[in-house]
Amino acid sequence: MPPVVTRFAPSPTGRLHLGHAHAALFAWRAARAAGGRFLLRIEDIDPLRCRPEFTEAILEDLSWLGVAWDGPVRVQSRHLAAYRAVLVSLAARGLLYPCFCTRADIAREVAASAGAPHGPEGPVYPGTCRRLPPEARAARIAAGEPHAWRLDMAAARAAVPAALSFEERGEGRIACDPARFGDAVLGRKDVPASYHLAVTHDDALQGVTLVTRGADLKPATDLHRLLQALMGWPEPVYAHHPLLTGPDGRRLAKRDGAATLAALRAAGRSPAEVRAMAGFPD
Ligand code: GLU
Repeated sequence: MPPVVTRFAPSPTGRLHLGHAHAALFAWRAARAAGGRFLLRIEDIDPLRCRPEFTEAILEDLSWLGVAWDGPVRVQSRHLAAYRAVLVSLAARGLLYPCFCTRADIAREVAASAGAPHGPEGPVYPGTCRRLPPEARAARIAAGEPHAWRLDMAAARAAVPAALSFEERGEGRIACDPARFGDAVLGRKDVPASYHLAVTHDDALQGVTLVTRGADLKPATDLHRLLQALMGWPEPVYAHHPLLTGPDGRRLAKRDGAATLAALRAAGRSPAEVRAMAGFPD
């Protein structure tokens, strides 16, 4: 059995709240219980939403909480060349195509086609740019037109075994249906990566054996297994945990300012009290 490696992978879009503390402690405890390693990764590829001061705050809040990570912190925005290399290799296999559509273009097309399917991330991309001839693609790229890179889902599905599944800890194997995502974006217009690409690349690179994360991301696992199969990356075990909810029963989110670790700390709560509030009493 390989040693257990878990990770906490927050995006620095705001201060950590109790929901993040729960996720961090869940991953940290899973590693410690198995005598394994716990990694910290900052998922900051979105330049519009992520801010360096929030990265600093994450490190400080986790240290205060008593969650110690092993080894260096991986900061995704420093590794864009690695993600670009994955895009290049998938494109060379004919599994990606450039997409020039704007959000408005896609919304218009979806509105025009009654009964357009919905996937885990909203309406499934109607495939407009998949049908562009190669010369048109090349000309538009040469003209500097902004473009994302989409996975050709049908081609990708054909390139790997038909039966894909993942192991959910305590539940067993769950069948995957990545086609529900349609032609997912793997490279954004502004950065040569997307969440799905960066997260699967890094989990493989960092030797993560147990991916713990909120249940809201469970549907994404179908697509992640497809990327792992395409790239020959190892398959981790998954443990999706329920999201922490506030007193009103709604999941905690950034808007619940009072639940940030910084606010709790300022109000005089101790790290042990906050760990207990996050569902992990000592
Ligand atoms: N960066 C993601 C988030 O903050 C988590 C990614 C993952 O755990 O797979 O929601």
